[in-house]
Amino acid sequence: MPICPICKRDVKRVLSCEHTNDEDVCVECYQEIHYKITKRG
Ligand SMILES: [Zn+2]
Ligand SMILES: [Zn+2]
Repeated sequence: MPICPICKRDVKRVLSCEHTNDEDVCVECYQEIHYKITKRG
């Protein structure tokens, strides 16, 4: 299983996009990153 580089947990599914610097992160971290982005401003 892949390991999320942010929370260091084993995860079944990973996601990546430009906001994660193209790193594969878990769904929770992925959502947190985008939550911060949408809340900014
Ligand atoms: Zn994570
Ligand atoms: Zn994104």
